[in-house]
Amino acid sequence: MSKNMLVMEVTCPNCGDLLTEGRRVHLEAYIKDTNQDGKIFLSAIFGDDSIETDIEVPDGSVAEFRCPTCDVSLMLNTPCKLCGATMASLNLATGGYLEFCSRRGCRGHALGGFGDIDQMIGLVNRMMKTPHD
Ligand SMILES: [Zn+2]
Ligand SMILES: [Zn+2]
Repeated sequence: MSKNMLVMEVTCPNCGDLLTEGRRVHLEAYIKDTNQDGKIFLSAIFGDDSIETDIEVPDGSVAEFRCPTCDVSLMLNTPCKLCGATMASLNLATGGYLEFCSRRGCRGHALGGFGDIDQMIGLVNRMMKTPHD
């Protein structure tokens, strides 16, 4: 059990329910490409874009994420800077929020941003509440 693993505790922006379960984030999603609807578990580990799901999510398909508790859409009106798909948003239990791309296979799909170093430092600071200089 590594304590260095950066597991993000995320909550629903609408109802505030904790969506992180162990090292996974439990969401509901509708996949337009395959017309399927079901549970998707995103990795809660910072920068990891792996998912676990029973529904078909082909590479390049776009998901519409919803909260499994209150069923409110988590989608934003913001396009992904990398691929143009719609971004989704979750709150961090420690304060602040994160956005991620809804397209499977896009680098922006990983929780925590595009791997941009400034974004990562900003997110880690928001999570750890440690000053950075
Ligand atoms: Zn909710
Ligand atoms: Zn994207």
